[in-house]
Amino acid sequence: MKLLFATSEMAPFAKVGGLADVSQSLPIALSKLGVDIRVILPAYSTVNDVELNLVQITHPFKIRIHDETIEVILLEARGFPVKVYFVDAPYFFERIGIYGPNPSEGFKDNLERYTLFCKAVIISIRKLGWEPDIIHLNDWQTALIAAYLKTARYKHIGSLLTIHNLAFPGDFPLENKDVMSLDDQIFPPKTYDFFGKISLLKLGIVNAGRINTVSSGYREETLAGGANGAGLEDALQKRKKQYYGILNGVDYEIWSPKDDPYIAHKFSSDWHGFKHMNKMDLVKECQFLKTSEYQPVIGMVGRLVHQKGIEILLKVIEQIHDMGFLLVVLGTGDMKFEKRMAFLNDNLLVNVFYDSSFNEKLAHKIYAGSDIFLMPSMYEPCGLSQIIAMRYGAVPVVRDVGGLKDTVEQFDPETGEGCGFKFSDFSGEALLNALKEALNAYMNPAIWRKIVENAVNINFSWSNSAKKYLTVYQDIMREKNG
Ligand code: ADP
Repeated sequence: MKLLFATSEMAPFAKVGGLADVSQSLPIALSKLGVDIRVILPAYSTVNDVELNLVQITHPFKIRIHDETIEVILLEARGFPVKVYFVDAPYFFERIGIYGPNPSEGFKDNLERYTLFCKAVIISIRKLGWEPDIIHLNDWQTALIAAYLKTARYKHIGSLLTIHNLAFPGDFPLENKDVMSLDDQIFPPKTYDFFGKISLLKLGIVNAGRINTVSSGYREETLAGGANGAGLEDALQKRKKQYYGILNGVDYEIWSPKDDPYIAHKFSSDWHGFKHMNKMDLVKECQFLKTSEYQPVIGMVGRLVHQKGIEILLKVIEQIHDMGFLLVVLGTGDMKFEKRMAFLNDNLLVNVFYDSSFNEKLAHKIYAGSDIFLMPSMYEPCGLSQIIAMRYGAVPVVRDVGGLKDTVEQFDPETGEGCGFKFSDFSGEALLNALKEALNAYMNPAIWRKIVENAVNINFSWSNSAKKYLTVYQDIMREKNG
């Protein structure tokens, strides 16, 4: 089976969130199952930071976007476990920022940028002399490809659209619809109309061969509508039978406490020692004053946005501080949250540390050095951070939604089973209660060791989920081949 994986992010070349991890690790898992898989993404300026041999594989060619003609070439990265292609169009992609100049602002020409990317993916099929059976699309940035495959000479190529976050509809003003170059007869406005705007994600939901999202829990929540349906629940309901929930996995060779190059002390045989030494390193890095090693460290790594429950954390952050926790937060996001966290870090709370950068090394140190990993998300399609945290022996305290619900089992002192603590209400009080419960367990070393042991032994490697993707691809091909 030949598969082209089209994505707008891929670690280590360009990362904003979990999509980058998935684009890095799922293709490797699929290639281990025998799939001839190649990945394609835009050549952002960050691509040059990675030490890889980039080879030009096509002559320059031109793509028309509305009234502009953009020159494009295809590059290939040599030395990565799967083939990776880059769409090099400096006019659109050689900028600071992936989706916008900062995390709370998109580029004004994102419709043009990702239309160009989608057109380039289609053209690349001819240029490469390698035709995929299926193109695996990810989120709104690649959703137009599902429509292009229906009209062009590539009708026989199947598509699967993975929704990593339904709350990003890829919405643009309706008056810009000509940018997409869609035939009105085949794609009437109702196929992309989203409350009077264009939604590229909706266009993808309507046109992709199959659709999936990244956990069963989130699939159910999105179909149920309300806030989680994000206005697209009707479109999803119409495709319900062809809409799956497939849990994301983690590549444990990349997230490996045994040989993680970023952490101060690698795991050898004893979790208690590993946690203790990395905790001391983290505490030093955060320059906390007057702490004792008995104070539990709560870590958070993630986008600082409404989705991640920052509001409810801020409501009770002083109480958390006063309970004796050390809180370490790493994240970029909404300016108002960044400012508030920076203010607390600088002025108010001696045991709160906040870093607003995107910092891979510090992220690893937080996973390794935290006792507790906090994710009080409003909603969570899958969430990779809690899965990574568990592998590093940080016990998750999470809200019981979406992928968090599917990956974290509440600890039960009666049976000794479970690996974390969950709460339901989206409130500061509920969060605080879950932290109190975790603190009680933490105070009892034997119980805490058991929970940590349970967490590190949980396995969310890709092997299961990659097989599920393979089944969906086979289903798409069966349908295509009659
Ligand atoms: P989402 O995709 O919603 O952002 P996930 O939990 O699925 O959330 O994935 C987040 C990924 O991004 C994890 O690999 C996490 O370590 C990483 N990450 C998030 N923020 C930062 C940051 N500021 N610095 C480094 N890594 C980060």
